[in-house]
Amino acid sequence: MSIFGNNIFGNKATHAVADPAAEGRNAGAEGQSEQPTVNKPDAQWREELTPEEYRVLRQAGTERPYTGEYWDTHTAGVYQCRACGTELFTSNEKFDSHCGWPSFWAPLAEGTVRYIHDRTMGMDRVEVRCGTCDSHLGHVFDGEGYGTPTDQRYCINSVSLRLVPKDGAEAADATTAG
Ligand SMILES: [Zn+2]
Repeated sequence: MSIFGNNIFGNKATHAVADPAAEGRNAGAEGQSEQPTVNKPDAQWREELTPEEYRVLRQAGTERPYTGEYWDTHTAGVYQCRACGTELFTSNEKFDSHCGWPSFWAPLAEGTVRYIHDRTMGMDRVEVRCGTCDSHLGHVFDGEGYGTPTDQRYCINSVSLRLVPKDGAEAADATTAG
């Protein structure tokens, strides 16, 4: 069961919910914007994701460097969260860090990702998670001297992302041939 909201629904448990829509509205009204909006039981994530996706996204694992799908990708497009589909990064902010993982100097927008202080593995790092479903994406480092606009490196696992290539950019310019 969800660890969120048990207490607010506890009172209602003895009453039949007459209006499912009202129940949904109440659930939304709880709405701390800090909480991820996509909450699924662990068993459901395990079912929906491949074992490797589950290990990285839900257990904060790390794929081996230079093995991921996107570490050396230059295709124009948008990178979505592999778990929930939220757009997180774009190819415009992707750069060649040669570290073996896809690297971005900024997320797509403020608030699309969230940050957690991570002192595991004997290091002091900032973990990056999807702001929508709270899945692990990678870590962010700054001040490394990469010469990007922010001097930050969002070091993200390929398996946490899904690239949606920008389709037919030049098609928009094509004039209609009668
Ligand atoms: Zn997500």
